[in-house]
Amino acid sequence: MKKSQRTHVKMRQFPVRNNVLCVNDTPITEIARQIGHTPFYVYDKRLITSRIQELRKALPPQLQLHYAIKANPMAALVNHISTLVDGLDIASLGEMRIAEGASTSAENVSFSGPGKSNEELREALASGITINIESQWELQRLLRMSQDAGKVPSITIRVNPDFEVIGSGMRMGGGARPFGIDTEKIPQVVQEVEAANVNFLGFHIYWGSQNLCVEHILAAQKSTLDLARRLSQFCSKPIRLLNIGGGLGIPYFPGDQHLDLESIGSGLGKILQQYPEFNECNIIIELGRYIVGEAGLYVCEIIDRKESRGETFLITNGGLHHHLAASGNFGQIIRKDYPVCIGNRMQDSNKEKAVIVGPLCTPLDILANKIELPKAGPGDLVVVYQSGAYGLTASPQDFLSHPRAGEVLL
Ligand SMILES: *Cc1c(COP(=O)(O)O)cnc(C)c1O
Repeated sequence: MKKSQRTHVKMRQFPVRNNVLCVNDTPITEIARQIGHTPFYVYDKRLITSRIQELRKALPPQLQLHYAIKANPMAALVNHISTLVDGLDIASLGEMRIAEGASTSAENVSFSGPGKSNEELREALASGITINIESQWELQRLLRMSQDAGKVPSITIRVNPDFEVIGSGMRMGGGARPFGIDTEKIPQVVQEVEAANVNFLGFHIYWGSQNLCVEHILAAQKSTLDLARRLSQFCSKPIRLLNIGGGLGIPYFPGDQHLDLESIGSGLGKILQQYPEFNECNIIIELGRYIVGEAGLYVCEIIDRKESRGETFLITNGGLHHHLAASGNFGQIIRKDYPVCIGNRMQDSNKEKAVIVGPLCTPLDILANKIELPKAGPGDLVVVYQSGAYGLTASPQDFLSHPRAGEVLL
């Protein structure tokens, strides 16, 4: 696509009233007043609920839906989601505590992550959650612990797949990786597992995230099931659980399109029909960003406005210390703007090009670069869309010791 044709993602999920952007019927100016300060993150419960309903409607009915807490671990939000999904995926002791506070039973909580400490393994074993084994040394430690504790662990084996997926924002499989156990080593590991006193459930195959191409996603899911078929031949009994990853992306940048969920659902349904050996198996899709990403806003306030050699700078009280991803420093190779707006001037027609920067003393602290927006100044609110996932907890809040951002679920 030519650059000129790449219009920015249209944000329609938040309505506008009296020129002000609203979250769950409350104007953001009112939310700012109630919290008592800016910057803050606000998440819309209704949008999260309707996103999960859309997923349920589109995906094959036998598919179980899990939420990956790392995308957004705010306790109230995780509690809300836990009433709507089939399970939670955690990756640390801290996330285990959050999951324990939610309404998901232990057997539907799955613990992934390379480098699990002995303490984490011990706690996971005691609470009965499913432990996703990422290395042979991890397996050995868990087996010894479970013998000492006289408790049988429930485990899955995380596989480092031998296929690569095109078009993922972040690839997590194929080639040499710290995640999971290489496909080639699985036969031997299955043998060890089957000889031990464990409740072996099956495999977890995660190939990547933030993918916006239906064909690539379906190809990855097909490769995942092919691999699961190959690997289950090394198991003496049919596997009972297969986590096929997730990877569904959301649009962030000019030219990005929303995924066609119906095509993914029907395509996946057809793929699953080709693997009748998994009819009795719990097949899980795990999503973070796709569930919460579009339901969140980051709101900060303009502190200063100044001109420098022909360019207008709007300087806000928020930036990369709260929202590393929007600044472009969370894995972007070429910096692009997240969709932004002036939340209290939604329909103003007097526009100008401005650079929106945060208060940090580094040129990396940019929220929008020469973007056309309604003319704004001190006291106006800059809103960053698509901020529900990988926002606050994926940011270096302590850098430069500014105040912390607020967080509300409405
Ligand atoms: C990060 C992660 C996810 C969530 O990825 P999203 O892009 O937020 O959907 C799911 N599973 C595993 C194993 C992960 O590491």
